[in-house]
Amino acid sequence: MSWTDQAHNGRLLIVDDAMENIQILNHVLGEEHEVLFAMNGEKALELARQHRPDLILLDAVMPGMDGYEVCAALHAATELRDIPIIFVTALTTPEDETRALEAGAVDFITKPFNVAVVRARVRTHLTLKRQSDALRELTLTDALTGVANRRCFNDAMENEWRRCARGHSQLSVIMIDIDHFKLYNDAYGHQAGDACLKQVAHAMLQCAGRPPDLVARYGGEEFVVLLPQVGAEGAETVAQRILESVAELAIPHRMSPVSDYVSVSLGVAIIMPGETSDAGDAALLVCSADQALYRAKESGRNRYSIARLAP
Ligand code: GH3
Ligand code: MG
Ligand code: MG
Repeated sequence: MSWTDQAHNGRLLIVDDAMENIQILNHVLGEEHEVLFAMNGEKALELARQHRPDLILLDAVMPGMDGYEVCAALHAATELRDIPIIFVTALTTPEDETRALEAGAVDFITKPFNVAVVRARVRTHLTLKRQSDALRELTLTDALTGVANRRCFNDAMENEWRRCARGHSQLSVIMIDIDHFKLYNDAYGHQAGDACLKQVAHAMLQCAGRPPDLVARYGGEEFVVLLPQVGAEGAETVAQRILESVAELAIPHRMSPVSDYVSVSLGVAIIMPGETSDAGDAALLVCSADQALYRAKESGRNRYSIARLAP
């Protein structure tokens, strides 16, 4: 079995302070899965952050940070809290089991290991993880264009707002709306309209592709781009790039009064999130971008307009 096949079968992180246990588990699971291991809690958290395993087998009793503390730390981190954890323990009283489950473990395996049980439990939880990943992906993706949907944008906005507030960095939002899209549908039909939406979405992805950037369909023929740690200059550059990329698609729009081709109007808003700010302030940022978009429409379309908010 090749390494990529193993990766396809899931990436495991085994955490145990006894080398012997790691060796046994690696022997049982290493054939079928990609296996990482850590011998203490701190290293486990570091590897989890770096490699995002699909499942963690966690020793309950370890010197230093024990399994319960590792579990709590994993659950406290937004990006790690969805990784299922199986406790591996020699303690088998109902109280121990309850404590493990209450700490957030999905299951537990008792020592000494039974090879067949370990394999079966790991397979089951990896399958469940794959299914829940696929489901999450579906609930956060716009079905037509494949970019993020509005719910995904709202989640990202909440997280990035907090991150930018902590890091004292700016956060920019660009609202984008296709010009005279109703006329486009009238001229070329709804299916051509759908194809146009896909092309425009794809072009925007090319313009805002850094990892924290997010392109989302906000609704209908309206899109939104979230640019964490980006100020006015950067946001303006992205807005200009989007204008140009959509123009370069050169999708004919014979009924458009502003261009021979499909064009967009954009509203840009930039803010320095305060640490005491809340969801209402994030909504204000989107609202300002929307007002800027309205001004871009009013002043002729096929252009961007900027709103600046006080910090
Ligand atoms: P403006 O330049 O002022 O934005 O004009 P507009 O015609 O683009 O704006 P309006 O809001 O009047 O119309 C939006 C149109 O977008 C109407 C609707 O049929 C179309 N639309 C919204 N969602 C979809 C979609 O998923 N597929 C297609 N083909 N059309 C869509
Ligand atoms: Mg429009
Ligand atoms: Mg619209």
